[in-house]
Amino acid sequence: MSSSEQTFIAIKPDGVARGLISPIIGRFEQKGFKLAAIKVFQVKISSPGQEHLEKHYADLSDKPFFRGLVTYMNSGPICAMVWEGRDAVKTGRTLLGATNPAASAPGTIRGDFAIDVGRNVCHGSDTVENAKKEIDLWFKKDELNSWKLPQADWIYEKP
Ligand code: GDP
Ligand code: MG
Repeated sequence: MSSSEQTFIAIKPDGVARGLISPIIGRFEQKGFKLAAIKVFQVKISSPGQEHLEKHYADLSDKPFFRGLVTYMNSGPICAMVWEGRDAVKTGRTLLGATNPAASAPGTIRGDFAIDVGRNVCHGSDTVENAKKEIDLWFKKDELNSWKLPQADWIYEKP
């Protein structure tokens, strides 16, 4: 029941280009999660670059869509974030919706803002273990902020 669980959430290049940073951040803020870290990567001119993305999606390296996925993720700035709160990993996935937007319910981010699985605007860690790995891959320790959400006592009955 820890309210300090962290998940890695990214707004992919299509989401950034389409002006969806604020509505996606809004879903997480409105839910009651806390933003622990955020940065926008100009992927073509600095890290993460291709190798970083191949590492991020290493589990999918044998999939036929892998090269296209890396090219897509490397095609423009990504907004990388760490969100914190009770069940942040599982609930984060619920807020995103299904991998394929066609199967995502209205009210979810992919259900409301995307059509194609290869342009599904956002990423979210799928397990607590993978969230830790992804946060380590995308953020340096000193980029993570530790702070108390002022309204925490209104969001959690017991912190
Ligand atoms: P996620 O955890 O919901 O993002 O889904 P996965 O980890 O299975 O896949 C990672 C990303 O690869 C997805 O978010 C999609 O952008 C992309 N992807 C997954 N399946 C397909 C597919 O069948 N075709 C294409 N073109 N892309 C896919
Ligand atoms: Mg995944």
